[in-house]
Amino acid sequence: MFSCDQCSKSFSSAAHLKRHQMLHSGLRPFKCDQCEQAFTQASHLKQHLQTHTGVKPYPCEQCGHSFTTRGSLHRHQLIHTEKSGGWDQEWVSSSLGGDGLQ
Ligand SMILES: [Zn+2]
Ligand SMILES: [Zn+2]
Ligand SMILES: [Zn+2]
Repeated sequence: MFSCDQCSKSFSSAAHLKRHQMLHSGLRPFKCDQCEQAFTQASHLKQHLQTHTGVKPYPCEQCGHSFTTRGSLHRHQLIHTEKSGGWDQEWVSSSLGGDGLQ
């Protein structure tokens, strides 16, 4: 294991540790040319750039909503896989002033 000496995280490879330690150095070589944000990894910048272009390459096959990242699509799809049905509806109604429920 390769442990970071600046925090308690450990990594399975030296490359991962090195990449992680860029976070501590503050070094972000991949800068967005459309806003002030900078990233430690090219893939993060690429993903971020899609928020400017409006490109959403990850469509949900079940409802047609599109997402900029695989992660957000995956998170979204949990609402389709929920078996009890409509927990999110319940959550929505209770978060929108549920004290009307008697
Ligand atoms: Zn660290
Ligand atoms: Zn940007
Ligand atoms: Zn969907």
